[in-house]
Amino acid sequence: MGTLFRIKLYARDQATAERAFRAAFDRVAALDDTLSDYKPASELNRICKNAVGRPVKISDDLMRVLTASQQLAAGTGGAFDITLGPVIHLWRQARRDGRVPDTAELVRASAYCGYRKLKINPAAHTVELDKPGMQLDVGGIAKGYAADEALAALTKLGIRSALVAASGDLAFSNAPPGRAGWSIGIDSFDRANAPFTRILQLNNAAVSTSGDTEQHLDASGKRYSHVIDPKTDVGLTKGITVTIVARHGIEADGLATAVSVLGASRGLKFVDSKLDVAALIVKRGAQGPEVIESSRFHSLPALYR
Ligand code: ADP
Ligand code: MG
Repeated sequence: MGTLFRIKLYARDQATAERAFRAAFDRVAALDDTLSDYKPASELNRICKNAVGRPVKISDDLMRVLTASQQLAAGTGGAFDITLGPVIHLWRQARRDGRVPDTAELVRASAYCGYRKLKINPAAHTVELDKPGMQLDVGGIAKGYAADEALAALTKLGIRSALVAASGDLAFSNAPPGRAGWSIGIDSFDRANAPFTRILQLNNAAVSTSGDTEQHLDASGKRYSHVIDPKTDVGLTKGITVTIVARHGIEADGLATAVSVLGASRGLKFVDSKLDVAALIVKRGAQGPEVIESSRFHSLPALYR
């Protein structure tokens, strides 16, 4: 998944802790083998070849990630779209070259994208792709799912209090001993060493942040995010950072990416339609950052005790 996973846990002794760390990191490694778009032999990459024009059986993990992705795609009118692989590849190359992709190339790649070209059948446990050349990319949702599953591996071994961080995607269980909750600082995304914009105290929840501070392309006076708007096939330039709090990482991660694409006003409406989700949006502006909260953000401590 091209990122660093960090785990913090409380256990009764060293041996239990070590066993738990091993189980959780093994689970992450197994998911990386399934979901990576960098590894040619990953299940994700194999179905891009095998499942063209015919339904192919897939693993439970892949099914869960694809199902959540397609639900989010349908719910956001395609703002979240895991079939963007060919377009994302052009933008990855663009970041290496330091120049925006050629428009004609983007148009060509775009013909292989569109979430309706991916069909899943949860009952039969199969997936089918409409045409050869399609490439799935679950980079906008897989880290959140991996954080959930690493946490589940710990819980299974009796660890009640743990936090898994896959860079900006966190999932955590009960509070550390003697504490009211996990303290989650939301960065200012503005200047280095600035104080946190907010500090949350939460238990049994997930927090994901999506923004352009870490991965972006600066070219022709604009900053292009690695999150792409499927309507234009162009990296977002609106300077928006979205933090989502949800029950599970798979939901928080996917929503953080989706709300970035939707933008503050449509994004917050979508978030507010979900009873146990809250968002904090930071927009970069000429007058400094603008901070916008979803309607349930202030009642978060009550939502996630
Ligand atoms: P991060 O990787 O920084 O945690 P995100 O969760 O927002 O951030 O994921 C960004 C990744 O999602 C991109 O690198 C790309 O792989 C994928 N992606 C980009 N645009 C979209 C989109 N519109 N819908 C779904 N996935 C996307
Ligand atoms: Mg995401």
